[in-house]
Amino acid sequence: MSLDPPPRAVAQEHACALERLALSGEGSSVLVVAAHPDDETIGVGAMLGSLVAMGWRVHIVHVTDGAPRDPSLRPTLGRLAPSEAAAVRRSELAAALRVGGLDPDVVLLPSLGVPDQEAALAMVEVARALSQRLVTSPPSVVITHPYEGGHPDHDSVAFAVHAAARVSGVPVRIAEMSSYHAASGRQEVESASFVPGSESSCAARHDGLLDVRARRRKRAMLDAFASQVDVLASFGTLAEPLRCAPAYDFTRPPHPGTLNYERLAFGWTGDRWRELARAALKT
Ligand SMILES: [Zn+2]
Repeated sequence: MSLDPPPRAVAQEHACALERLALSGEGSSVLVVAAHPDDETIGVGAMLGSLVAMGWRVHIVHVTDGAPRDPSLRPTLGRLAPSEAAAVRRSELAAALRVGGLDPDVVLLPSLGVPDQEAALAMVEVARALSQRLVTSPPSVVITHPYEGGHPDHDSVAFAVHAAARVSGVPVRIAEMSSYHAASGRQEVESASFVPGSESSCAARHDGLLDVRARRRKRAMLDAFASQVDVLASFGTLAEPLRCAPAYDFTRPPHPGTLNYERLAFGWTGDRWRELARAALKT
């Protein structure tokens, strides 16, 4: 099932918003680097269909396979072997993209295949692979996660994209889609926003408010991830904000206080993650 394509005016507005973030002020290709199958939909699901409708070349690469090796961290797929769980995640992803008006055979690049939850252990390898991609097929803009302590894999992908841009020498704008992070002073998680106090590094910033049709499309895409329904139910469809990535110091915490992933049963701490980031920076 594919929903109606976005009206031209809406598609054009989305494409223009991304163009304003590109270094050259114009663009025609985007590479989305996401940690897990579904992060692209959470961040820019509705926008992707607009870009394709406007003739942009869209490519999406996932760093992890979406299948944590600890079965308790994939409750709906815990009975499957990791490779089987990864295949389910990939097929749900393909279904979601189709719903959003994208052809998975065209837009999806092979996953880098890092086990879910373990991207921090492979930051150097991921950065090298992404750097190679930037050299051979430089996009107008890369869209990826912010560094915000929401999930260790998200932060690791942010690290790897920044490192890849630096190492490759390819002049490319790193734009950020929203993911999720701890709400300051509260137990809740915030999405469709960025950590307060971390600012866009360019003047352009896109609040990404979605109209009714785009919201419907995004919800239908989210619903295609059947194994993640419980998790994704809490994500709204009101907006897909974008901004230029700040120049991060990955050796420092992304914000004061407890990080979102430190409150979860992942077993990751910010201290351990930053230790790995420091080691990766030395290689
Ligand atoms: Zn994710």
